[in-house]
Amino acid sequence: MKEFAVFWGCTIPARFPFIEKATRVMFDDLGAQVHELAGHTCCPEGTLVKANDPDTFYTAAARNLALVEQAGLDVVTPCNGCYSTFKEAQSHLKTHWRERDVINERLEREGLHYGGDLQVIHFAEWLSDGLGAGVIASGAKKPLWGMRIAVHYGCHLLRPQPAVRWDDPLHPTKVEAIVSALGANVVDYTTKMQCCGGALDRVGERDSSLAFCRRKLNDLQNNQVDALVVVCPSCFQQFDLNQAAMQRANENIHVPVLYLSELIALTYGHTPEEIGLDMHRVSVDSFLKKWNARASDKKRIAQNFDVALLGKCFNCSACKDDCPVCKVDTTFKPTEIIGQVLRGEIDQVIEDGQIWKCVECYTCQELCHSGIGMAETFRKLKELAIAASKGPESVPQSYKMFMETGTLGKPRESARKKLGMGPLPASGGDAMARLMAEPEDTHKGAE
Ligand code: SF4
Ligand code: SF4
Ligand code: SF4
Repeated sequence: MKEFAVFWGCTIPARFPFIEKATRVMFDDLGAQVHELAGHTCCPEGTLVKANDPDTFYTAAARNLALVEQAGLDVVTPCNGCYSTFKEAQSHLKTHWRERDVINERLEREGLHYGGDLQVIHFAEWLSDGLGAGVIASGAKKPLWGMRIAVHYGCHLLRPQPAVRWDDPLHPTKVEAIVSALGANVVDYTTKMQCCGGALDRVGERDSSLAFCRRKLNDLQNNQVDALVVVCPSCFQQFDLNQAAMQRANENIHVPVLYLSELIALTYGHTPEEIGLDMHRVSVDSFLKKWNARASDKKRIAQNFDVALLGKCFNCSACKDDCPVCKVDTTFKPTEIIGQVLRGEIDQVIEDGQIWKCVECYTCQELCHSGIGMAETFRKLKELAIAASKGPESVPQSYKMFMETGTLGKPRESARKKLGMGPLPASGGDAMARLMAEPEDTHKGAE
């Protein structure tokens, strides 16, 4: 079990206790023991405190960290701001040893010493680098199949890179890897790396702050995301509270916002009520409704397909360019269709009609080292399409003809006669139709 000191910061307990609850639940589920230490102050916040007096900023940060060092622990925080403050202070005090000495002289009056060797960890960093996406995914009881989820990292989780050094500061992927491992379809979007604008609100620039937030929410809405995932309370405040303000002003905007720990708690089987999702200002009901529907889709997929084989085939993709249909029709993408099925989008697949382009040539099966092939998947999808009265008109018409006549085409008697051939024997269509019309239990009795 991993043990940390936890630094909640001031924003989460004061404004978003439901995020604290979900994060506690998440730590518990993932086997982390978090210790809460007495005596912490605000981290402190960078813009407001550092701009007033850098000495106070570094002393307060060093004092908070010294308390953690005194307990012999590392520190984990669910707040980008606290993470950034501590990382920046650590980096600065490492090279500015004279300042560090002055601060330590002060701290010694309180029986504290800042050595700077402890690890400062953001909870997303622990999830990604400490546990790994695969471990997190293995505990998910109700994955996010078919859900379109976007991630907002927030500037201070990544930058300034010399102090933070976690994910790529301009092209991060680690939080998305966690969300994807939980089964979601991660949505990339143009404004992903744009700041939430929260800092502008803190210095009285509310209109500009809202403009930042609005630009991003519009982008997300255009990308039809089911939820935006954040890892910072300031970002949450922007996208939830300020979005709610925009909604009250009749702006046509609705993007449910979830904290990463809330998302994990939900997929681990905790109810929305238990973690207080009703305390969000922007309703997450549309997300929950679709997610629940997707869970029934999952059952449907398992009833109709071998999910493990489908997953293997989707991840392999080796023969996708060998399909003869793909060579002449670039719109036919068999691997993508299998991905859609895995995400629970069976109805869309059936509706879209691309499945009928698979000519069941079995090239993929012959080429497949595992003997999987995709033809059987497409055949099953075609069955589901017919049952749902979807697909080309010719298919039910031909079946009707077969059931009525036992053939898919009447012999052209005149042409046959001209060629000197006699009539064919009578078709067995009636007998076939009688067989299929017999009740099920008659067949069983005959076995
Ligand atoms: S970064 Fe923000 S939430 Fe974290 S302790 Fe500082 S002011 Fe509070
Ligand atoms: S069976 Fe279907 S998917 Fe496979 S190669 Fe043939 S046409 Fe393509
Ligand atoms: S059919 Fe076989 S080779 Fe082709 S993508 Fe699937 S698993 Fe890979």
